[in-house]
Amino acid sequence: MSGSVASSPAAPRLLSVEEARAAVLGAIAGPTEVEVAFLSEALGRVLAEPVVSTTALPPWDNSAMDGYAVRAADTTGATEDRPVRLEVVGEVRAGFAPDVEVRRGTAVRIATGAPLPPRADAVVQVELTTPLDETGEPSGPRGRDATGPLPAGCLVHAAVDPGAAVRPAGSDLAAGVTILELGRTLTAAAIALAAGAGVPQVRVHRRPSVHVLATGDEVVPAGRDLGPAGIPDANGPGLHALVDAAGGLASALGIAKDRLEDVHSRLCAAIAGNADAIIVSGGVSVGPYDVVKLAFEKLGRIDLWRVAVQPGKPFAFGVADRPDGGRTLLFGLPGNPVSTFVTFELFVRPAIRALAGHRPDRLLRPIDRAVLLESVSKSRGRRAFVRAIAERDDRGSPARDDGGRVRVRLAGGSGGQGSHVISALAAADALAVIPETHDTLEAGAEVELWWLDAG
Ligand code: AMP
Ligand code: MG
Repeated sequence: MSGSVASSPAAPRLLSVEEARAAVLGAIAGPTEVEVAFLSEALGRVLAEPVVSTTALPPWDNSAMDGYAVRAADTTGATEDRPVRLEVVGEVRAGFAPDVEVRRGTAVRIATGAPLPPRADAVVQVELTTPLDETGEPSGPRGRDATGPLPAGCLVHAAVDPGAAVRPAGSDLAAGVTILELGRTLTAAAIALAAGAGVPQVRVHRRPSVHVLATGDEVVPAGRDLGPAGIPDANGPGLHALVDAAGGLASALGIAKDRLEDVHSRLCAAIAGNADAIIVSGGVSVGPYDVVKLAFEKLGRIDLWRVAVQPGKPFAFGVADRPDGGRTLLFGLPGNPVSTFVTFELFVRPAIRALAGHRPDRLLRPIDRAVLLESVSKSRGRRAFVRAIAERDDRGSPARDDGGRVRVRLAGGSGGQGSHVISALAAADALAVIPETHDTLEAGAEVELWWLDAG
């Protein structure tokens, strides 16, 4: 492991971000168990079993256009001025089996998605035809919509090849083949693919249950009277949203007073319910009212870590045994909202993703490269995750320099980087990573960039 820094011989050694994250991930025995989920509950979840198509797609040859099903040979030589004349002998609508076949010299009006009638081998789109009445005279304009009463005949103004505007059975998917691999994350398109292949349910890992507890005698639910010294609870709702966005199933344990019994009893309830993880915000420092570490110690095995990260020191992590034989991960995050958020990003989100079944190489945010447009200062020896805003071009895309690097400035201007400044956090669209080795980076320096969830 590299990157940890002991700032003086007397100071306890700080853990590097990688060491702390490795210890968290090392405490996870494996992903949550497998369950069957309806597709409506599957977005973002990880497949524990491949998905196999139950139908070919399309299930039968069908029409790609509104028009007329024909025998291509009957249209040979047709041109704009010398159209071919066909008798219209019936119609196929989407959702209905054809009840008529296409003999020589005839056509069947057909809708997009309707099965191709027997003996037809092509479709002429309606725009290339003119409808005819019983006397053989045009009954409407050329290429009008394929709606209204069925015409007695039609003129075809162009020759078509066999297969024209026909979607052959199985041209998208065969039946009985793997269409989504084990380990695949279900995106909206993957869900559409499973449904389109006739699969209504999938086997996926259970969403990890993650309980969120805010602490602090001063912390009051948003919307309540603050009194002389209260502050609205930002972390409870914020963490709840972070958990859900990370693929967990969040539930709220409320706001505990800075009293050991209050914190302890709420944690007990969550462990008794076999929570996969508990996140506590605040009360994790070494002040006289910081009881979270004591509560964790009563419930399981715990370390109070000093991680070489800014913001985010200190940070407590441990595990508690659950009634069902599993283990609850215990996270104690610093109470300043930006510290809570950054430590969640660094340590909790990867853990939730590992529990949810994501592969080891899919736990972290994709890393981009950026160039700072202004200088930034931080503590040497700690890795800083500063809240950054990307410059945008006039289409709203991140602006990049000639080297392909995103141009970023600091969110919130001067003073915006305090660990209590939630307005700058909310304005940021990424975290820029300033390495341990520096206390200042000048404008023009290149940094790593972690994109956050876009709004
Ligand atoms: P602590 O980690 O408990 O020492 O708290 C550090 C700072 O974060 C203090 O200023 C707290 O008032 C603030 N804080 C703690 N919890 C929350 C919360 N849930 N929402 C907003 N601010 C909080
Ligand atoms: Mg506190």
